[in-house]
Amino acid sequence: MSRYWSAVTHGLTPYVPGEQPVLDNLIKLNTNENPYGPSPKALAAIRAATEDTLRLYPDPDAKALKATLAHRYKVGPEQVFVGNGSDEVLALAFIGLLKHVRPLWIPDVTYSFYPVYCALYGIEYRQVPLDDGFVLRPEDYFPCGENRAGAIAFPNPNAPTGRLLPLADVERIVAANPEATVLVDEAYIDFADQDDASAIALVDRHPNLLVVHTFSKSRALAGLRIGFAIGQRNLIAGLERVKNSFNSYPLDRLALAGALASLEDEPWFQASRSKIIATRATLTAQLQALGLEVLPSAANFVFARPTGFDAAELAAELRKRAIIVRHFKIPRTAQYLRITIGNDNQCTALTDSLRDILGTTR
Ligand SMILES: *Cc1c(COP(=O)(O)O)cnc(C)c1O
Repeated sequence: MSRYWSAVTHGLTPYVPGEQPVLDNLIKLNTNENPYGPSPKALAAIRAATEDTLRLYPDPDAKALKATLAHRYKVGPEQVFVGNGSDEVLALAFIGLLKHVRPLWIPDVTYSFYPVYCALYGIEYRQVPLDDGFVLRPEDYFPCGENRAGAIAFPNPNAPTGRLLPLADVERIVAANPEATVLVDEAYIDFADQDDASAIALVDRHPNLLVVHTFSKSRALAGLRIGFAIGQRNLIAGLERVKNSFNSYPLDRLALAGALASLEDEPWFQASRSKIIATRATLTAQLQALGLEVLPSAANFVFARPTGFDAAELAAELRKRAIIVRHFKIPRTAQYLRITIGNDNQCTALTDSLRDILGTTR
């Protein structure tokens, strides 16, 4: 607290990111980073970009990156927006597209950054409960007379549950709310089993749909900070207005170079994604064998509930064994742990420790 702070600053409750420990040898399964690392071609491109041209500002419009993304996702370059991590894209979308007289509707269990943006920008929001299996029911988002959303936002797959809403259900929500912007945060969509799960396929039919992606998870570039959004040109133009009122150069030269080269290495992307999908199936079965309930996941993490052991205590026990996972204190999920899919050695260390912890107390 400081008397020099504005009233806005006094009123904030900031998002708390997962711990980034300085200790070596910790098995870090708490922030959904990708264990397989970025494409070596991306690393080479970043190295090549560390030269004298760093004295020059980067391209404020990121034209080359937008063109490559547009080509990959079969949309026009004017349908692509890029930002400094998808968190920045979300922040700009919240103020630029989701703040209206009627409240923003979000799931009750969802990415915990959403309420933080709402508080920052003074956006009224309503938390729509997921069903008992943490499934989002499209009908709950349909307008009913005057009871309708000013805008809607949800991750798909949802965070931290990992549950995937089928594309047809996403479209039902978008189609039922033609007056409202619907933001679908697809941070984890590349880990869905099907290749055609992304709502990007719907943007040409729906002027109110914005789909947000990140390079942090499936492209293993969390440290470089690259996110993007795809929608019809009017939505993108709105985001550009906000961006150009805030920061003209959100992506630096190294990020632009790394992002482009990452997109050009499709084999690396597919291999890392397939490996994580396969490991998710193995780990899910192993956790179930250890007595944990595991929600079906389409992401690079699982959301699991230990039976007969308190989730927070289990996280603390794992930490003593140098394994960190994420525990969210909100009541509905207090008995769950979100566990990132690591590499094979990390998963074995996790299941060995769980066997040890759960075995000794039973
Ligand atoms: C990780 C994550 C993001 C943020 O990704 P960055 O691009 O690293 O900012 C956004 N939304 C959800 C649901 C996430 O889990």
